[in-house]
Amino acid sequence: MNRAQHILKSIFGYDEFRHAQQEIIQELLNGNDALVLMPTGGGKSLCYQIPALVREGTAIVISPLIALMQDQVDALRQLGIKAAFLNSSLNQNDAYNIQQRLINGELDLLYVAPERLQNSAMLALLDRCKLSLFAIDEAHCVSQWGHDFRPDYQQLKLLHQRYPTIPRIALTATADQRTRDEIISQLQLENARVFVNSFDRPNIHYAISEGNNAKQRLWQFIVDNHPQDAGIVYCLSRKKVEETASWLVEQGRIALPYHAGLPQEKRQRNQQRFLRDEGVIIVATIAFGMGIDKPDVRFVAHLNLPKSIEAYYQETGRAGRDGAPANAWMAYGLQDVITLRQFMQDSKADEAHKRMEHHKLESMWGLCELITGRRQSLLTYVDEASPEPCGNCDNCLQPPAKWDGTESAQKALSCIYRTEQRFGVNYIVDILHGKTDERIQRNGHDKISTFGIGKDTLVTEWRSLFRQLIALGYIDIDVERHGALCLTEKCRLILRGEQTLELRKPVKQDKTTTDKKQKTAVRPQDQPLWDALRALRMLLAEQAGVPPYVIFHDVTLQEMVKKRPSTEQDMNRISGVGGQKLARYGKEFLAEINQYPLSELLDNRLSSTVNETLMLYQQGIDIELIAQQRKVKSSTIYTHLADAIEVGLLDVHEVTGLSKAEFNEIVFVIESQEDQEKGRLKPVYDELDGEYDYGVLKCVQAAI
Ligand SMILES: [Zn+2]
Repeated sequence: MNRAQHILKSIFGYDEFRHAQQEIIQELLNGNDALVLMPTGGGKSLCYQIPALVREGTAIVISPLIALMQDQVDALRQLGIKAAFLNSSLNQNDAYNIQQRLINGELDLLYVAPERLQNSAMLALLDRCKLSLFAIDEAHCVSQWGHDFRPDYQQLKLLHQRYPTIPRIALTATADQRTRDEIISQLQLENARVFVNSFDRPNIHYAISEGNNAKQRLWQFIVDNHPQDAGIVYCLSRKKVEETASWLVEQGRIALPYHAGLPQEKRQRNQQRFLRDEGVIIVATIAFGMGIDKPDVRFVAHLNLPKSIEAYYQETGRAGRDGAPANAWMAYGLQDVITLRQFMQDSKADEAHKRMEHHKLESMWGLCELITGRRQSLLTYVDEASPEPCGNCDNCLQPPAKWDGTESAQKALSCIYRTEQRFGVNYIVDILHGKTDERIQRNGHDKISTFGIGKDTLVTEWRSLFRQLIALGYIDIDVERHGALCLTEKCRLILRGEQTLELRKPVKQDKTTTDKKQKTAVRPQDQPLWDALRALRMLLAEQAGVPPYVIFHDVTLQEMVKKRPSTEQDMNRISGVGGQKLARYGKEFLAEINQYPLSELLDNRLSSTVNETLMLYQQGIDIELIAQQRKVKSSTIYTHLADAIEVGLLDVHEVTGLSKAEFNEIVFVIESQEDQEKGRLKPVYDELDGEYDYGVLKCVQAAI
């Protein structure tokens, strides 16, 4: 184990193992099998990469993700690890060379596609090698019921039969019990120790909002939170993918479409750009994602409702795999549910399957309309209890307003009843609103008792009410009859007044639910260095022909910015800088950091806004001008400067221009305040006959 610890630090550059990594590695080093269930971004690959380096021989990694192998192998080579892959993308000559290296024992890890292991030549080759372990990645592909089923995976049990003494590790990010059982039985892993890690992704912030202007709100969310970041935007249809991508381009971002209707080369090219360039937004249908392992995706946005909680969890799980903060953002509407139901109804699946899909969609919708924490209900899908509140979702951070919707629900339900459960949401809302259009008159619905009883309620509020009634199971949508609303058994209690209904208040459309505060990765005074290090990384990545994150992850660069190492030893202490990376890139990054020294004034722990002021102040800009530039009052600027005076970074005379005598006069007045007045500036201001600005007084107060 000491050796594993040493490798972790010297090669991968990390000080500590995460989660159960250490125990899993120990299990393999002891020669045992393991089944690992871990969310994406949990550090799965280290669980086999380190034992592969400790144990003698070559580790065989089975992965269905051929497109990913190149990047995985590139990343390992960057660390100085001898890795290669064998798959159909290689020409005969290259494949032959790799086979020779394998036989000569020159490889630490070899990635292969599952179908290769059916091949007797490949097995004969393995017979001639010293093998350290088998790692079966994406092990859920063995499950016939899962959507990633790969028949080749079911043959992998032969590894155990043919090489019974070689330890095996199966890994997956799919957590449900049925898949787990299937992996164990199909791969004959009955003796394997099972490691189930938490599937919570605490660094992802979840926010879900309903209503109109989804595109506009998406843009606001991106501008506020991710002006430079890479992200994925999911849409339901190809058409919407294309539209949204061009729209984002018009707004000034690099946005690329991805869907099954595009030619193969174009899809490949767009995916490649998303991986290799920085700050690219990919707009995609759910066809995109499997096999994407980009660690620095900072946001995943949904412009439509995913079809299940499971899908939502998987899709949002592509954000923040490097562990740094990331956003999962969604905007949805009533139309989504109707469209998805239509899809399901039209599919050729059998009735039982359709019912299940329907149920899954209901649950997803329930998650959206929820008034309690999001994370908890998200984790119920992996049967995991989560403490409430999570503190990192919209409902926890800005609890939604609630209202007693019982009476309104009664009006809505009885209106559906009186129109014989034949009409859709829009029509029912029109009746409630007392709209006299031709169709309503023709049907005589302007004569029924519910006509116009909901005039006081806004249309948006009615729509929100209907969404919630549907999500909560009081109303069903009959897709066969063009989305006609019908009553369920459950709504009797409400109609009879035996149950009250607490509902989520619809948010005002002009107020977006994204929090306004800018979430930049670094402090304002570190921004120039951060930009410089990212540019250097991009340059090196282009030279090496790898994605930037293969050089260093964002979190590693952020630590460099924070700690500003000046020697190679300091650099080696940065998490993610192992021996090989230090040798390769250490000097260049040290030189770059050296170019951006932090002044004494800006080397502080004060808030971002204070530092923004200090940066301008440092340039010798006048306080009034700083206030204008930052669009705040000059008294606010003085408050910022007072903070710096208080911690001894600025001199009060220099800031205020006060003479010694003036300063002493103010100090005298402040100190002679009665105890109960202490800290208040108004009395001081009055005592001095308003001769000095509040800002100046604040600075003097800070200096005392
Ligand atoms: Zn929460």
